[in-house]
Amino acid sequence: MTLSVVIPVYNEEENVRLLYERLKGALDPLGKEYEILFVDDGSIDKTLAVLEEIQAKDNRMIVLSLRRNFGQTAAFAAGFDFARGDVVVTMDGDLQNDPADIPKLLELIKDNDLVSGWRKKRKDPFFTRRLPSIMANWLISNVTGVKLHDYGCSLKAYRRDVIKNLKLYGEMHRFIPAVASWYGVRVAEVETVHHPRIRGKSKYGISRTVKVVLDLITVKFLQSFSTKPIQFFGPVGIMSGFIGFLILLYLSIDKLFFGTSIGARPLLLLGALLVIVGIQLIGMGLIGEMLVRVYHESQRKPIYVIKKILGPESK
Ligand code: UDP
Ligand code: MG
Repeated sequence: MTLSVVIPVYNEEENVRLLYERLKGALDPLGKEYEILFVDDGSIDKTLAVLEEIQAKDNRMIVLSLRRNFGQTAAFAAGFDFARGDVVVTMDGDLQNDPADIPKLLELIKDNDLVSGWRKKRKDPFFTRRLPSIMANWLISNVTGVKLHDYGCSLKAYRRDVIKNLKLYGEMHRFIPAVASWYGVRVAEVETVHHPRIRGKSKYGISRTVKVVLDLITVKFLQSFSTKPIQFFGPVGIMSGFIGFLILLYLSIDKLFFGTSIGARPLLLLGALLVIVGIQLIGMGLIGEMLVRVYHESQRKPIYVIKKILGPESK
């Protein structure tokens, strides 16, 4: 088994060298073939210079330097594209995750496709970080059906085929276990240590919460309906259109047979609105269906994932 460690760093000049040394300390004794892949996410401090210096002396070290700050998710995606290991471990570059936990993850990855760290004793401020995180983990676990205590923990291990199939957008790296569940991966969780950030600044604040909620909606939609959007929009559209139709029918009878004036009745507005919304939703579902076909058929992307093939052709 070969190993790649992928670490996105943005303005971590004070952390990278120490992290590199701790990584060495944790990886060398394993006796495995490994590479350490730092992704410099457009740092504007000396991070890249420090990394270059380390790289010059160690050819197990790879440094990808992105042209500008693309964000942690993009940095992970870049790392995944270049990683060559059978197992890919990700972690933060700020020394909050501990390289000493990597062997624990590797032990579990033998029987799983994805192992996620759980910062049980998390060393971050309570109100701005830990509380939102507790709520987010509860919400994500229940919405996606992949129950984890700590989605936000960057320290994770993946089997190669899990990440090679993955397409990441937005701020979606924290949702990888949920996204990957579409592929039917086995997910395990392991307690890991967490240190307070001593050097450098955190790149995120409370505003991340809104982004997480929006990404969650996207993930949930894609997880459940990405190959059948009409099944999502259709039922709501039909319900809305049908109720609207009943309302308008009632108003029409009232007008035609009983001569009631209906022009000023709020119900008329509601009925018309429900019918229009219903038609719109079904229309959106149909457009979605066309997009699904364009996406999958133009690129020959299957709507299934094969684990293995047994039979005469499998060799
Ligand atoms: N990071 C990055 N690009 C960004 C923001 C952050 O590569 O645009 C890296 C950062 O250098 C660190 C990791 O992502 O290695 C996690 O960031 P941070 O420690 O600020 O997040 P927190 O631990 O506060 O959630
Ligand atoms: Mg951090």
